[in-house]
Amino acid sequence: MSAATVISVAVAAPLSRHFDYALDDSNVPAVGARVLVPFGSSTRVGFVVSYRTDPSPPTRTLKPIIEIIDETPLFDDGLRRLLEFAADYYQHPLGEVMQAALPSRLRKRLEAPVDPVNFVLTDSANAIRTHLAANAARQYRVVDALEAAGGGGLNSAELRQTAGECGNALKRLESLGLIRSLSADESTNTITTTPGPTLNPHQLSAVERIISNQGRYECFLLEGVTGSGKTEVYLECARRVIANQRQVLVLVPEIALTPQLISRFRERLGVPVSVLHSGLADGARQRAWLAAKNGLGPIVLGTRSAVFAALPRAGLIVIDEEHDPSFKQQDGFRYNARDIAIKRASMENIPIVLGSATPSLESYYNARRGRYTGVALPQRAGSALMPALHLIDSGQWPLSDGLTRPLIDAIERCLKRGEQSLIFINRRGFAPVTICGHCGWQGKCSRCDAFLTLHQQNAMLRCHHCGSTCPAPTKCPDCGDSDLFLAGVGTQRVEAALARLFPEARVLRIDRDSSAARGALESHLEQIRLRQVDIVVGTQILSKGHDFPGITLVGVLNSDQALYSVDFRAAERLFQSITQVAGRAGRASDPGRVLVQTAFADHPLMRALTRHDYAALAETELELRRKTMLPPFGYLALLRAESINANAAVEFLKTAADIGHTIDIDEDRAAVTIMDPVPAPMERRAGRTRAQLMIQSTRRAPLRIFLSHLVSALEAHRSARSVRWSVDVDPIDLY
Ligand code: ADP
Ligand code: ZN
Ligand code: ZN
Repeated sequence: MSAATVISVAVAAPLSRHFDYALDDSNVPAVGARVLVPFGSSTRVGFVVSYRTDPSPPTRTLKPIIEIIDETPLFDDGLRRLLEFAADYYQHPLGEVMQAALPSRLRKRLEAPVDPVNFVLTDSANAIRTHLAANAARQYRVVDALEAAGGGGLNSAELRQTAGECGNALKRLESLGLIRSLSADESTNTITTTPGPTLNPHQLSAVERIISNQGRYECFLLEGVTGSGKTEVYLECARRVIANQRQVLVLVPEIALTPQLISRFRERLGVPVSVLHSGLADGARQRAWLAAKNGLGPIVLGTRSAVFAALPRAGLIVIDEEHDPSFKQQDGFRYNARDIAIKRASMENIPIVLGSATPSLESYYNARRGRYTGVALPQRAGSALMPALHLIDSGQWPLSDGLTRPLIDAIERCLKRGEQSLIFINRRGFAPVTICGHCGWQGKCSRCDAFLTLHQQNAMLRCHHCGSTCPAPTKCPDCGDSDLFLAGVGTQRVEAALARLFPEARVLRIDRDSSAARGALESHLEQIRLRQVDIVVGTQILSKGHDFPGITLVGVLNSDQALYSVDFRAAERLFQSITQVAGRAGRASDPGRVLVQTAFADHPLMRALTRHDYAALAETELELRRKTMLPPFGYLALLRAESINANAAVEFLKTAADIGHTIDIDEDRAAVTIMDPVPAPMERRAGRTRAQLMIQSTRRAPLRIFLSHLVSALEAHRSARSVRWSVDVDPIDLY
C-alpha cells in the first residue's frame, strides 16, 4: 500500500473536533483554504487545519475531499491564528468560527462573483441633500443608502433591498448629476475632503501619544466625556496611519454606525471607507470585505463582526464606546469583539485605542494597574459645556403616565423657548402589565416567565421575549370582570400622555417598533435634526452616536429597574446608559439639562451621576468585585442549557458539574470553582426550561484548559443530545 495524504478539516458544524479526509491527487491545499467535503449524508464547506503524509493509511478508508475551493486561503496566517485563538478561547468549533468571520456569500461552496456596482454618490451626502426637495422621500432614502454603503456603492438590486422601490428616484438623481453609475473596474470615486476642527491641546497630546507607537502593540484607554472630541482623535490618528500606507479598523456599537458617522470618516479622510455590518446587502458586504482583504480599503468601519476583517496592512485598531454590550455576540459563537481586537492588536503588533466616557470596569482597572495606557480628554471640545444633571425624587411627586410635575414643567419651558426635548425610557409598547382589579389576574406569556406588554396598534398583548401575541382582552379571562387596568409605562404611553399635555407640540416616538420599516429610523433622525419635532420619546436606540444640536433637555424615566437587577454589572450599565443619553443634551452652544426621575435620589450611584463622577462609581464597584472575585478580579464561564422537558436542563448541568469535578488538570485545578446548577433568572422562555452553571476561576489559563476538557467530555456524553447547551466564556449577561 502506498502513502496517502490525510487532511484534517474544520467543518462548519457544531462539533469541536476536526475531521480527516483523504486527498487522491498530489494537489495539496494550503492550510486555511476552503474545501468541499462529504459530511454525513450531505456536503459541507470546511477549512484545512493541517495535513500529514501517512505511510500506512488506515485500513478503513477515509472519504476523499470533493473539491479544493481556494488556491490561496481567504485568511492570511495572522488572521487564521487569531481565529484559532478565538475558537480555543471561546470553546467554539473552529469551522463555525471561520464561517462567522466571512461574509455570507463566501461561506458558500464557490466564491460568488463580485456584483458590479452601479451607483455611487458624486459628492458628500450632506452636500447632495441640499439639492433635494424637502418632500423627495425616496431620493433621500437612496442618498442615505449610498452613504451607508461607504465608498463601494450599491447596484440597483441592493438599492431596492435597502431603500425600497426607487427606480424613478435613481433616474432623477442621475439626471441631476448627484449620483452616477460606476464601471465595474473603477473602485473609488473622488471624495471632497473637508477639514476638521483644530484639535485642542488634550486631543493633540492624545494623538501624539497613540501615534508615537506605530508598529508596536500598546492598548490605550481614551477616556473622554461625551462630546470631548474622541472621534476627532480617532480621525487624526487614522489620517496619519493611512498616510503611512497602513489600514485602520474602527469598530463601533451597532446603533452608532449611522450614515453620518460614515460620511464623517469619508469626508474627513478623503478615502473610500469599507463598511461592514450585518444589515448590509450580501453583495455590498462581500465587496467591502474583499476590498479590505485586497488592501484597497484603507479604512474599515464596522460593527462587531468586522473585527475579523482581513487587513493585510493593519496599522491601528479603534474601538469606540468600548463598554458597549453590543460588542459581545450573544448566541452561537459568543465572542467579545473588543477582547478579540485587543488580542489581534497584540498579535499584529499594532496600537489599539479603546474609547469611552464610561469604560467597562475591566478596561478601567487595566488602565489603573498600568496594563493599558490611560489617555484623558477631560472637557467637552469647542465651546459646549457638560449638561447639568439633576435628580427628581419620584417618591415626592406623583407619577402620571410615568411623568413627574417638574419634568413636565421643564418640557413646557423648553417648548416655549422653541427648543427640543428628549424623553428616554427603556421600554417599548404602551404598558408592560395588564391586571384585573377584581381578581388580580395578570397578563402573562404562556411560554415565558414574563408579562405581556400592551401595544396600541390593533390592541395586542405581546411578549418581548418570545414574540408571541394575542388580542388584548376587554374583560378578565379568569373572572370576566371588565375592571382591567394597566400598570407601568412604555414609550407609547408616554407619547400619548405628552400629546395630551401639549396638543400643539410635535411628538415623535423612536423605538424598535417605530423604526421597523426600512429607512424609518434615518428619516426620523433627519426630522429631529431639521427641528421638525419638538419632543422625542425614545429608547436606547437613540442614546448614542447621534448629535442633535437642538436638544437642550433630556428626561430619563424608569431608570431604577437596574438597581433591582440580579446582574452584578447592573450599576455599571445604568451609569453608562444614563451618561450616554445625557450626552445627547446641549452638544452645541445651548447648555443642556438632564433630569433623571428616580426613587433612589440618595443612592451613591445617583449622587455620582449628578457629579459626572464615573471614577467614584468605578472604585466602589471594583471594591465589591474584588471581594466577590468577580471580573475583572476573577474569570467567569457560564454553561447554559435549555429543554422542553422541565427537568432535563438542570439534570444535564448536574451531570456537567459531576464531570467537572473529576477533571484533573495539571495546571492548578484549585483555581477553578464549579458552582451549583441553578434555574436561569428567566426560567421559562419560549416554552423551554432554562438553567445555568457558573464556573469561576482566579486565572484565565486554568479556566480555558478546564473548559476544553469539559466541552469534549460533554460532546461525547449521551445526555448532551437531550438538551440545547452552550458555553459562554466571559458572559456579560447572566441570563
Ligand atoms: P465624542 O466622540 O467624544 O463624543 P466628537 O469627536 O464627536 O466627540 O466631538 C463632539 C463635537 O465637538 C463634534 O461636533 C466635533 O466636531 C466637535 N469638536 C471636536 N473637537 C473639536 C475641537 N478641537 N474644536 C472644536 N470643535 C470640536
Ligand atoms: Zn379577574
Ligand atoms: Zn413569551
